[in-house]
Amino acid sequence: MSRTYTTTGIILKRRDYQENDRLFCLYTKDFGKIEVVARGTKKITSKLKGYLEPFYLVKLMIAKGKVIDKLANCNSIKCYENLRNDPTLLGFGLINYLAEGTDGLISGHTSQSDKFELLLEALDIMEQEIIKDLPEKKERMQFLANIYFIKLLGLLGYQPEIHRCVLCHKGVLLTKNVFDFSKGGLICEDCKKVCLIEDYIRVSDSVIKLLQLAKEKPLEYFRNLAIEANELNEFNGVGEKLLLINMEKPIKSLEFFSSI
Ligand SMILES: [Zn+2]
Repeated sequence: MSRTYTTTGIILKRRDYQENDRLFCLYTKDFGKIEVVARGTKKITSKLKGYLEPFYLVKLMIAKGKVIDKLANCNSIKCYENLRNDPTLLGFGLINYLAEGTDGLISGHTSQSDKFELLLEALDIMEQEIIKDLPEKKERMQFLANIYFIKLLGLLGYQPEIHRCVLCHKGVLLTKNVFDFSKGGLICEDCKKVCLIEDYIRVSDSVIKLLQLAKEKPLEYFRNLAIEANELNEFNGVGEKLLLINMEKPIKSLEFFSSI
């Protein structure tokens, strides 16, 4: 087997490692999520330093190591500068939200090109949307991020049930449905009356429709969709909760996001 391999990846996070080195967690097209060490990258003179910022899309050459693989070379393909340089810091907040959520939902070294392509699509759309003057821009951008997460959950096999009641399996046609996070989907009004539900929120029919569309339509579809501010907020509440339940830990980036 070759001692080096190449792939394309997005840098999800980095942390210091030993005196001059850094560990990078990357989401790659060919190998899923991997961790590599980059020797000497804490030094100002490191030639790799300029390419190794979180959420850079990079071409990588990696050398196999006994304990941990080592970054041999790296070239930047795209750095999403509109998101990175957004003066309102909304772009920075989105990058952190996407990175933390993607890192939290994805595990393992399997080939995951469909999920990788979805992440690139989400980044490309947000890179273009962030420079537009949009009403409810923060809520709309978070909405796009949450649509991405719901699509990612679907690809990972954790799609929430949004077409039928998870208890009686009847199609959800009635109003006053609730979303029960402990059961992973919608519960109809009839079932809600007779069972004890602990972790639920009431969802409007328009948000149920959006959750269904998130499964069926490409991300691009949601860019120019006309949505009321209260629907955006309601949908984002469901999206955040779904992310939280599936990550099984607090989402730190949301604290910064809500302060913007
Ligand atoms: Zn039911």
